[in-house]
Amino acid sequence: MASAETRREGLKALWRQAQDCTRCAELAATRQSVVFGAGNADADLMFIGEAPGANEDKQGLPFVGQAGRLLDTLLEGIGLARGDVFIANVLNCRPPGNRDPLPAEIDACQEYTFRQLELIEPRVVCTLGNFATKLLRADPATGITKLHGREEVCRIGPRTVRLYPIYHPAAALYTPSMRAVLEEDFARIPELLALPAPEQPAREEVEPVVPEPEVLAPEPPAPDRPARPAPDPQLGLF
Ligand code: URA
Repeated sequence: MASAETRREGLKALWRQAQDCTRCAELAATRQSVVFGAGNADADLMFIGEAPGANEDKQGLPFVGQAGRLLDTLLEGIGLARGDVFIANVLNCRPPGNRDPLPAEIDACQEYTFRQLELIEPRVVCTLGNFATKLLRADPATGITKLHGREEVCRIGPRTVRLYPIYHPAAALYTPSMRAVLEEDFARIPELLALPAPEQPAREEVEPVVPEPEVLAPEPPAPDRPARPAPDPQLGLF
């Protein structure tokens, strides 16, 4: 297990790299911010949502709109707060008009999602909705309706985690009857966190999902682009 300091340094390097990302030309041209994951870098529980919406894009933080407020309430219901968990998304940038993420965008951004997971080393990963569930299970054919509330031990890159798909909180905003299902699924999270940590693959068996430092080193600024300003306050959130 990496030290807390190593983890934080890795997250900062990845955060810096993400700030200049232009892999998705449309998203890079229309975003106000790159919404990287935020929360406790030592969290045992990590949530992975879909993509930032308008509020997240404006504030540069994940889940700060209505769906985020519901997520906070659900966390409170199981005795947790945001500071106890780490929250990331399948996409770091807002799709214009809140359209669904495109397959090419998910492909382009997955390095950030998997690398955050690799750095946080959570025991339980809760995928919120279809996009995160399909990406992390690498099974585009099986959706959240079938999988929600059922945990499975899953190898994701170099880590073995308990994967726990649940509905996206936004689903309960659109369909109020979903709220009870979401609460019921949430109620099982403490039980999953209390289980022994899943056994990790032997070191020689694993290859990092993303090659380390060289790929993650921030690119030098282009001649006509100013150097990046001093680190963002978000860095204090890791
Ligand atoms: N929905 C998401 O999936 N992610 C956010 O950050 C906000 C809303």
